[in-house]
Amino acid sequence: MGNVPATLQEAITYFSIVENCRTYMVALRWPDGKVLCPRCGSANVDWLPNAGLYKCYEKHDRQKFSLKVGTIFEDSPIPLEKCLLVMWILVNCKIVVSSYEIHRAIGVTQKTAWFMLQRARLATQDPQSGGKLKGEVEVDETFIGGKARNMHQDVKARKIGPNRGPMGKAIVSAVLERGGKVRAKVVDKRKKKDLHAMVREHVEPKAALYSDSLKSYDGLDGEYAHQVIDHAIQYVDGQVHTNNCENFWSLLKRGLKGTYVSVEPYHLFRYVDEQAFRYNNRKDMNDADRFALAMKQAVGKRLTYTELTGSFERWTN
Ligand SMILES: [Zn+2]
Repeated sequence: MGNVPATLQEAITYFSIVENCRTYMVALRWPDGKVLCPRCGSANVDWLPNAGLYKCYEKHDRQKFSLKVGTIFEDSPIPLEKCLLVMWILVNCKIVVSSYEIHRAIGVTQKTAWFMLQRARLATQDPQSGGKLKGEVEVDETFIGGKARNMHQDVKARKIGPNRGPMGKAIVSAVLERGGKVRAKVVDKRKKKDLHAMVREHVEPKAALYSDSLKSYDGLDGEYAHQVIDHAIQYVDGQVHTNNCENFWSLLKRGLKGTYVSVEPYHLFRYVDEQAFRYNNRKDMNDADRFALAMKQAVGKRLTYTELTGSFERWTN
């Protein structure tokens, strides 16, 4: 793609120019450089520089289309220049970027920044290519949130929906291949059924599996070389530990704290995806690679206002 930016400083300069954004998006969407109408597939299209849109000359409705069409940014009113910059910042930040920082950095309202970040987070969802985890795999779960005690009754009723464990905490389950990737998701319960399903879905049979002594992990011995570390006694016994999962939880929790306002359980999975993306792409990748990967994953996904907000306003974090 030629002289794509390598640093945040370069990204700011590069993506401030519409023509550069166009070059980037065309290379991403149409690698041979031939832009096709997303509605009819025709190559009979022209770029209208003043409108910042393409126009298809075939006879059909909605002949004009933007470079955001068919991506998570499709129906965003925010210019592509800013969308690309937000994506760059999200995938390359160390622990977290808050909507307040984006609001100040790129000159949109905090609400808009929050919405842009949630869209961008969708691109960090793991397509789970590369198959199941193998070798030495740790499995663990953690509780997130849960200041339910101090809430008013109605707020409590609203916040403690599905995906909440004891005391209104949400549960996140993770499997992590040592030296490799993590797969993490919000689960309903810490029951055997839920945690076994998580392991079976993501871990190759016969792999070495390490967990703590939670009863729910019992019964995996037949399928995996399962070893247990009893945290009441010790945290590490040779190879038997879940320290890599612990590290991931600490990243996730620091990230959530860094959003400055509590994260609704409804949206928790987005933050889990975001942390897992940065964790999984921390090695052998530079900022430009990470951005390019997220942009690839931004294609073919949509996130509407209604999906994002659910049944009531959630402009909180
Ligand atoms: Zn067309």
